[in-house]
Amino acid sequence: MYGSATSQLRVNGALTPVFPVKRSVRQGCPASMLLFSVVLAPLLILLERRLLGLTLASSCLRVSAYADDAFFVLRCPDESVAVRDALEDFGGASGLLANLAKCGALAAGTWNRDNNIGFNYEEALKILGVTFHADIRTTTRVNWEKVLASIRGVLKTNAARALGLQQRAQYVQMYGLSKAWHVAQVLPISRTVAKDITGAARMFLWRGHFFTSPMDVCAMPPSSGGLGIPSVLTKCTALFAGRWRAARGCLAAAWLTELLQKHPLERPVRRVPAKASHFSTMHAALTAAPGAGSVAPGDVIRFIHEALLTAAPRPVPRVVGKAPEVNWEQVWTNISSRAVLADAKESWWLAVHDLVATRHRLHRCNRAPSPVCPHCGEPDELLHRLASCREANDIWRQVRGVLARTLGGRPAPNILLQPDFAAESEEKQAAAVWTCATAVHYITTTSTPSTREFDAHVLRARKKVLDDPDRWPPALLGGLAAWVQ
Ligand SMILES: [Zn+2]
Repeated sequence: MYGSATSQLRVNGALTPVFPVKRSVRQGCPASMLLFSVVLAPLLILLERRLLGLTLASSCLRVSAYADDAFFVLRCPDESVAVRDALEDFGGASGLLANLAKCGALAAGTWNRDNNIGFNYEEALKILGVTFHADIRTTTRVNWEKVLASIRGVLKTNAARALGLQQRAQYVQMYGLSKAWHVAQVLPISRTVAKDITGAARMFLWRGHFFTSPMDVCAMPPSSGGLGIPSVLTKCTALFAGRWRAARGCLAAAWLTELLQKHPLERPVRRVPAKASHFSTMHAALTAAPGAGSVAPGDVIRFIHEALLTAAPRPVPRVVGKAPEVNWEQVWTNISSRAVLADAKESWWLAVHDLVATRHRLHRCNRAPSPVCPHCGEPDELLHRLASCREANDIWRQVRGVLARTLGGRPAPNILLQPDFAAESEEKQAAAVWTCATAVHYITTTSTPSTREFDAHVLRARKKVLDDPDRWPPALLGGLAAWVQ
């Protein structure tokens, strides 16, 4: 296969002459990883046979390798001879030599560092992105500190980017918190670290907003009025428990049983029950989770995550608590409709959650000199700004006209929340939701809304949709056609 393989190097933009590849694998060749694994396998198999290894519930850990990084578990100093012999034999046969200067040993647990094993002892070893120390407590603390610092760094560096609330929520989820998910599968997260990470996410998310929504509400899915940012504590716990369950079978349940014995639920100390209930929920979820081996690890994690979410007290957005009679399910469905443009979605979400910085609200916390509207002297409350001040009323009359043309008949003021609305065709729903979201966005972000400007605003928003038709649900395009007539 490599009989006539050649390579070239690019140095400072210039290519070197072509040279034949006589040893090792080619850089950038898709087959390199596989070839390397095939070559390395005999060494790993040899050591699998020679080392005692560490027995965990249902498996024994002796050797682990990823690309050209390998690590071996030694139970006694004599085993280091087996490792060095194997490396030497293997190097002689394959030409693949271990770089002894880059090898290190970690004296874990009660291992005596006076034992000379021919490798330098290190304070810590980094294996697959996790830094291991001699004991689990330090390992957990150090790794979570790193994760926290890294998340804070990423979110701080990108804080000034011009992103909307929904985009920030997506950014937090995809780039910010992703650093936690890797470590969470290996090391348990503490409540304090989870709280600090959530705090960093909160700072990033709400930059530039005076009124904010609690993070447990943001953690709800958009279909329940949240922003879909996962709860750090719940997701990390699920990842940890799920990974253990999937990899080690009953060990995870045994470990949790032990924890529960240490933190019994009925202990009269105030802080312990919360902690214990967290573990007991996890324990219940683990016991009920599908057996290891029968399903993919991802499914076990999803199952445990679901169970933890169901067991946790469900947060209720403040507005929902204030007006429980409203058809909230339909409200959230409308806001998260694909037919709503991103900026309009944000304005609508903020207005529904009553997070618009009106003078009335700002005045209540001493952030505005007066609570009244500068245009008409009425109290500057959300409903005033949204529906009655200046030409807002006329704009809604116009919107009602459009809704009447789109949906037929004389639509009720809260038509979007009526049971008949959900029965309308997708096209009609998309066009109606789009129209209302566009109006809310225009009115809440403009200091002096007017009907004429609103027309221009609608045309611009409509152009955005028509310019990029593939991004929008076809129903919206159909519905918008009806909208213009
Ligand atoms: Zn006013």
